[in-house]
Amino acid sequence: MHSLLYTHSACLRHSAGPGHPESPARLQAVLEALDHDRFAMLERIEAPRATRAQLERAHDPALVDFVAAAAPVEGYAQLDADTAMSPDSLEAALRAAGAVCAAVDALLDGSASRAFCAVRPPGHHATRDMAMGFCLFNSVAVGAAHALARGLERVAIVDFDVHHGNGTQDIFWDNAGVLYASTHQAPLYPGTGAANEIGVGNIVNAPLPAASSSFAFREICRDIILPAVERFRPQLVMISAGFDAHYLDPLANLNLGAPDYDWITRELVDIARKHAQGRVISSLEGGYSLTALRESTAAHIGALIG
Ligand SMILES: [Zn+2]
Repeated sequence: MHSLLYTHSACLRHSAGPGHPESPARLQAVLEALDHDRFAMLERIEAPRATRAQLERAHDPALVDFVAAAAPVEGYAQLDADTAMSPDSLEAALRAAGAVCAAVDALLDGSASRAFCAVRPPGHHATRDMAMGFCLFNSVAVGAAHALARGLERVAIVDFDVHHGNGTQDIFWDNAGVLYASTHQAPLYPGTGAANEIGVGNIVNAPLPAASSSFAFREICRDIILPAVERFRPQLVMISAGFDAHYLDPLANLNLGAPDYDWITRELVDIARKHAQGRVISSLEGGYSLTALRESTAAHIGALIG
């Protein structure tokens, strides 16, 4: 089976400022982990820019204008306490969202069945009208909206980043064509993601308390996340792949390890094989320990491409 890897050099140049945890070294670590014989069959593709029409399926035109206007010519532009742009950030954000849209096109056209988007900035905190939490555009949401525009009726997004994807939830809150299912630590930034936030029955939140173990993560996936995805019978499975629930991560307090990312990925691939012709697109979100990122992305992408 053919698998694709989308990335772009602008995603390595985007900087949120010196010392910021969402650093270029993160993507460098992911790409180093993939520079291995085991991943030789991944076809490397330069991510195209998302078009304005693609962005506007998930975002207000005013946000697209705001991010474009905020891009600095030099130095940094601070959008909020933890979200900033450097001169390469707009290009990186366009390529990140464009990567997911291109992956959707490739899978729907049948030229591959798995894709990983090694991109930054991350996206899942960007709401319909606001860039926040290190995120400018919501790449996975833009991709899911693109898949619906291409004629799919059911797209599932599973988000195992340790933070709740408030942006993705916001964008698809009343859209029954998208299932958004998230496990995350709570309480933690951004403060959303309670189990009673259910949208029109298409939102599934499974919060975990700080210090939860790998066992607790797998249990909540088996009891809540995976059955919800299975019942939804998605025609495409998308993953907001953050690796900050890893025990080494400095920004959160869950205790997952690389084998957990292998496990959840296999479970999602199994569901995709049953309902979605095997189609799975995963895109990098958070993860702030470089060691954890290297071993977790190797485990995740290894399971993704089988
Ligand atoms: Zn995160």
